[in-house]
Amino acid sequence: MTVTLTDEQALIQETARDFVDNEVVPRVRESDRAERFDRELAERLGDMGYLGAPVAEEYGGRGLDYVTYGVIVEEVGRGDSAMRTVVSVQTSLVCGSIERWGTEEQKQRWLPRLCSGEAFGCFGLTEPDTGSDAASVRTRAEKIDGGWRIAGQKMWISLGNQAEVALVFTQTDPEQAHRGMACFLVPTDSPGFSSQEIHGKLGLRSSDTASLALDGVEVPDDALMGEVGDGFKIAMSALDSGRYSVAAGCVGICQGCVDASVTYSTERKQFDVPIASFQLVQEMIADMIVRRDAARLLVRRAGELKDAGKPSTVETSVAKLYASESAVECANLAIQVHGGSGYVDDYPVERYLRDARVTTLYEGTSQIQKLIIARDATGVNAMTPVSPA
Ligand SMILES: Cc1cc2nc3c(=O)[nH]c(=O)nc-3n(C[C@H](O)[C@H](O)[C@H](O)COP(=O)(O)OP(=O)(O)OC[C@H]3O[C@@H](n4cnc5c(N)ncnc54)[C@H](O)[C@@H]3O)c2cc1C
Repeated sequence: MTVTLTDEQALIQETARDFVDNEVVPRVRESDRAERFDRELAERLGDMGYLGAPVAEEYGGRGLDYVTYGVIVEEVGRGDSAMRTVVSVQTSLVCGSIERWGTEEQKQRWLPRLCSGEAFGCFGLTEPDTGSDAASVRTRAEKIDGGWRIAGQKMWISLGNQAEVALVFTQTDPEQAHRGMACFLVPTDSPGFSSQEIHGKLGLRSSDTASLALDGVEVPDDALMGEVGDGFKIAMSALDSGRYSVAAGCVGICQGCVDASVTYSTERKQFDVPIASFQLVQEMIADMIVRRDAARLLVRRAGELKDAGKPSTVETSVAKLYASESAVECANLAIQVHGGSGYVDDYPVERYLRDARVTTLYEGTSQIQKLIIARDATGVNAMTPVSPA
């Protein structure tokens, strides 16, 4: 495993860092306070080539490797997790799925617009009664002449109010369980499609989150992505990339916590000395640095495996689990370093904690990541309860 970046990767990192410091960081507090999704800034991510960065150039992406994609996501995550969510959803969940599973026509129709930020996409898997058990989606797709009729509800969908296209995961035959699942590319201006904003979130306040209703939405046959029965595989392959992206964003939160804590502790004085002089403060900073470095290396390992085309599901779960829990831990420590000042939004650390909290929940909770990791080690699937023989 390579620990250092190539010159080209380092240059892309530097550009992303400057962009985040100059264009993202100055807007983040106001958007967070106002719970306002900043579409203009999200479109700027497209201008910079940060939406769909690993997508092939012929479809409007930059054809970057996964390690470089992770580096970009880390930088955006350091600045604003709501914007990082845009990058993760658009790139890993939506563009990545279309590129891997879509027909040539579907790729041509959607990828260039999504990569440029001219259009946004959302990933509609979760439902009011279907979360961790993704195979139990109830949204029904029924075959009609020349197409499909879709009815159901989706919950907690990032970018759901902003998106021009929704990946909608459905059940075509409940008796087939996950083998009956199908994924559709649904234009959000289709009759019967509606979205509603979800507010009152602990964090990610300026991220757009929606509940979706599909009330007999009719789509043509060519809206089906992959085959009937591929839906579950599409969802899992998307999450494999999505979890990598979330993990990289969490490394960015850890980095932001270290940066803020080093600056604050060397400036703030108590007992006539900078608080960085106190060993107990240094311990908190050292703990954050160890977490940050370990998380970054785990993300890098998962990225290199993806770039090498090797299996990486377990390594991605390890990275996502560790990086997300570390982001929560680092943010909590960073608030402690800041004392009372860490409790208000003059400093970024309280937002880091609020924003980090969801990363142990979405794209598979920490418990689900542990079950994936230990299933691989033991060969025993503990995901579903086993009744006594
Ligand atoms: C801000 C936000 C944005 C989101 N964006 C999207 C999006 O864009 N698209 C999308 O499809 N979804 C999205 N989600 C949904 C997210 O992926 C789910 O919330 C997540 O998968 C967990 O599902 P759940 O909330 O239904 O929790 P549940 O599955 O009900 O879990 C509740 C608790 O039970 C535990 N649990 C469940 N099953 C097991 C088990 N087998 N063993 C042990 N413990 C278990 C969980 O770990 C958790 O602690 C988003 C959520 C949020 C909050």
